[in-house]
Amino acid sequence: TTVGVLKEIKNHEYRVGLTPAGARELTEHGHEVLVERSAGEGAGFSDELYERAGARIVADAGSVFEEASLLVKVKEPQEQERALLKPHHVLFTFLHLAPDQAQTQDLLASGATCIAYETVTDRHGSLPLLAPMSEVAGRLAIQAGAQALEKVCGGRGVLLSGVPGVHPGNVVVIGGGVVGRNAAQLAVGLGARVTVLDRSVPVLRELDQHYRGQITTLYSTRDAIESVLAEADLVVGAVLIPGASAPRLITRDLLEVMPEGAALVDVAIDQGGCAETSHPTTHDDPTYVVDGVVHYCVANMPGAVARTSTLALTNATLPYVVKLADRGVRAALEQDAGFLPGLNVAQGKLTCEGVALAQDLEF
Ligand code: NAD
Repeated sequence: TTVGVLKEIKNHEYRVGLTPAGARELTEHGHEVLVERSAGEGAGFSDELYERAGARIVADAGSVFEEASLLVKVKEPQEQERALLKPHHVLFTFLHLAPDQAQTQDLLASGATCIAYETVTDRHGSLPLLAPMSEVAGRLAIQAGAQALEKVCGGRGVLLSGVPGVHPGNVVVIGGGVVGRNAAQLAVGLGARVTVLDRSVPVLRELDQHYRGQITTLYSTRDAIESVLAEADLVVGAVLIPGASAPRLITRDLLEVMPEGAALVDVAIDQGGCAETSHPTTHDDPTYVVDGVVHYCVANMPGAVARTSTLALTNATLPYVVKLADRGVRAALEQDAGFLPGLNVAQGKLTCEGVALAQDLEF
């Protein structure tokens, strides 16, 4: 199989779909790997590293589309990329088709086979290609929040770790899933006081057993949220109701309860955010202040740490890329029950129920 790696063209996207280490695995399996010039640069992987791994560098995206049959990317294909997709292509990348009618129509019209990272499942029914990005976002949330608490950002000037003789900061994490657990881990590591709220008692039980008194767990009710916000320095919004918008747990009046200069990192912003006052921001201008609370609402947090994110993402995707290259798309999907749900579009047909429902299309 000829595997093509494209340089991402979405604004501020520095990740790449395959590392030199991944290229080496593929070439050792007898496949040809084509890499668009400077595709890995943003993540710190030079063309030379790919060449040393046995890949061939090509000048532009057009040549990759022309010569490769399996295309590996990070972000959904942009309009000019969609125009180059042909029926023999297998595209493996994040697609997020549900809210994106234009992309859905183009992918259907292309006749290509399109597999989305975000709908691949594992044998526990969780999402192995989405989890690494939630791990990054959860950990980054504490780093971003620590900075938002500094005076220059409008924060209350609290150091999360405290110092000898001074209380550490109070971190409240709403949602104890992948993002929440990673945020909690980092906050505990810094020496902050940490409270995690969730609607799931088993989730809280597991956290309690793991941290043995180092964190407080609380069942998430409006009452509980109100009481912890009153003493919070940093709040991390990490809730998810699968397939739905994030619940608006922090209403505007609750901001009044929070200390002046507290920070809110709303990681759930990609699902609309869990605070009424959250709206998406960018890495260029990540924070804004409402009612004295510093909001950080960057929708693509992993992009800030493109190198770590690339390594984490490709660790998870590489086994699937190898399977696709070794066995071909049909056998690869048929032999792995969790891989099949990744198939969103095949030869002009929609094959993902969630997308069909969201757009009222035939499935
Ligand atoms: P997850 O499914 O692992 O965890 C979500 C948790 O929220 C679950 O434990 C669930 O029980 C809990 N929850 C649901 N309703 C709740 C409520 N009312 N109160 C408290 N907890 C509640 O999801 P995840 O992977 O941790 O992702 C969390 C959010 O972060 C998602 O919206 C995801 O899209 C988003 N995310 C954003 C970025 C970014 O760059 N901004 C990156 C990765 C993930």
